[in-house]
Amino acid sequence: MLSFPLPSASFQHEYELGMHVIEVKIILEQAEGPHDNLVDLFNSDPTEACRIEILGHKPTHFCTAKREKYLCVRVCVLIKKSSRSLKAKKMASKTAGKVIRCKAAVAWEAGKPLVMEEVEVAPPQANEVRLKILFTALCHTDVYFWEAKGQTPLFPRLFGHEAGGVVESVGEGVTDLKPGDHVLPVFTGECKECAHCKSEESNMCDLLRINTDRGVMLNDGKSRFSINGQPIYHFVGTSTFSEYTVVHVGCVAKINPAAPLDKVCVLSCGISTGLGATLNVAKPYKGSSVAVFGLGAVGLAAAEGARLAGASRIIGVDLNPKRFAEAKKFGVTEFVNPKDYDKPVQEVIVEMTNGGVDRSVECTGSISAMISAFECVHDGWGVAVLVGVPNKDDAFKTHPINLLNEKTIKGTFFGNYKPRSDLPSVVEMYMNKELELEKFITHEVPFEEINKAFEYMLKGESLRCIMRMSA
Ligand code: NAD
Ligand code: ZN
Repeated sequence: MLSFPLPSASFQHEYELGMHVIEVKIILEQAEGPHDNLVDLFNSDPTEACRIEILGHKPTHFCTAKREKYLCVRVCVLIKKSSRSLKAKKMASKTAGKVIRCKAAVAWEAGKPLVMEEVEVAPPQANEVRLKILFTALCHTDVYFWEAKGQTPLFPRLFGHEAGGVVESVGEGVTDLKPGDHVLPVFTGECKECAHCKSEESNMCDLLRINTDRGVMLNDGKSRFSINGQPIYHFVGTSTFSEYTVVHVGCVAKINPAAPLDKVCVLSCGISTGLGATLNVAKPYKGSSVAVFGLGAVGLAAAEGARLAGASRIIGVDLNPKRFAEAKKFGVTEFVNPKDYDKPVQEVIVEMTNGGVDRSVECTGSISAMISAFECVHDGWGVAVLVGVPNKDDAFKTHPINLLNEKTIKGTFFGNYKPRSDLPSVVEMYMNKELELEKFITHEVPFEEINKAFEYMLKGESLRCIMRMSA
C-alpha cells in the first residue's frame, strides 16, 4: 500500500503539458517495486483530462521515521492531453456559433412526467457560455417548481441545476473560460463587480442571485432553448436537464479537471448548500450540539459540516424514519421523529438538551420545521439557519420574545459560498478526501429515465440520483 502526497491526477492542473522531472514522497509499508504502483497512481484520473506517461524513476532517499517509512523518488513524466479532451476541443470548433440540436427532458406541464424531446440550443451571447452537460442530478428544488403547488408556474420549462460538464463554446467577452474547461453550473451567480460580490460576507450577487421566476437569459430577455420555434423557459439560469445548455459566465465554476464529474456534480447545489450552511453560517464550535431538520442530501451535508466542525451531539429530525439508518453514516448521533410525540418537536429537543441546542439547521422547506428549528435553539447564544425553500405564501410566525431572549435566526442560499471563488476549493475538499461524496449518491439512471429520479425523490428513497448523459 502506498499513498501519494498530491491528489494523484491533478498534474495537468499543477503542471503544464510536456515533460517534467518531479520529486515525490511515497509513504509505503514495503519499500519495493514502486513502478507499477506509480503508473496506477499517476493515471487514476477517471475523467481522463490528461494522461501521464512515466518515462523513468529513480529512488533518491529512503527513510524510516517513527511512524512511517517513505521513499523519495525522482520521476520523469510526460503529461499529455487525453483523447477525450482533444475530442471535446475538436467538437467545439465544429459547433461553435451554430445552433445545436440535442436531447432534453422538457416539463410541459406542472406535475406531469418530463418528455424527452429534441431541442435547439442557440449559441451563447455576450458573457454567456454553452456547456455540454455530462452528469446531472435531481434536487428537491427542481421537484418543487415542477409540482408548482406553492410556486409561480412557468411552462414549458427545462429544469435541472445540479450538474457537471465541459465548456463547449463561449460568447463574446468571456475570458475566464475556454472550450474544454471542466465546470459546475450554479443556480446563483457571482458577477465579481457588485457590492455583494465585493463584500466578504455576502454571496447575494446583485446581478445573478437566484431568481426562480425568470425563465430567460439576462442579455436579451429571451430563451436559448426552442422546439420548432417555440421557446422553452430556463430554470434558475442553469437548465441542466439538457445535453447542452447556455449559462451566464458568472454562474459557472471552473474546477480541477481531475475531479470526477459524476461525483462532484452534487457539489453544484445540495451538498455545498448544506455543508456551507453549517460551516459558514451556523459555525458550531467544537463540542457543541446541532439539530438538523430534514435528512435529505442537503440536511445530511449539514450534518457532515457539523461533524467536520467537531460537534459532539448531532440530532437528526425527520418525518421519514427510513432516513435514520442512512443518517448514521453521516455522523448523526440521535434521531427525533416529530410524529412520535404529541407535543411540538422543539419542546422535545429543548428537554433532550437541557435548554436547547447550540445550533440548528433547517433543510426541509416546511414552514413548521423552520419555526421548530428556530424555537429549539438555546436562549442567549443559539443560532438557527434556514436553508429549505418555502412555499410562495408561507409566513414565519414566532413570538418576538424568542428574539429578545437572544436566539438568532439566519438564512442562506448556497451555504454562503461564492460560486466562482469558493466552489473550486470545496471540490478540493473532496479530492483531498476530507469530504465523502459517494455516500450521498444512492441512485444512478440514464438521462432518458429521468422520471425514475423524480419517483425516487417523491417516495423519499433517494438522496441523490445521478443521471448520465449518453451523448
Ligand atoms: P429531500 O426531499 O431529499 O429532503 C427533505 C427531507 O425533509 C425529507 O427527508 C423529508 O422527510 C424531511 N421533512 C419534510 N418536512 C419535514 C418536517 N416538517 N419535519 C422534519 N422533516 C421534514 O430534499 P433536499 O434535496 O435535501 O433539499 C432540502 C431543502 O433544501 C429543500 O427545501 C430544497 O428546496 C432546499 N434547498 C435550498 C437551497 C438553498 O440554497 N437555500 C439549495 C438547495 C436546496
Ligand atoms: Zn455580483
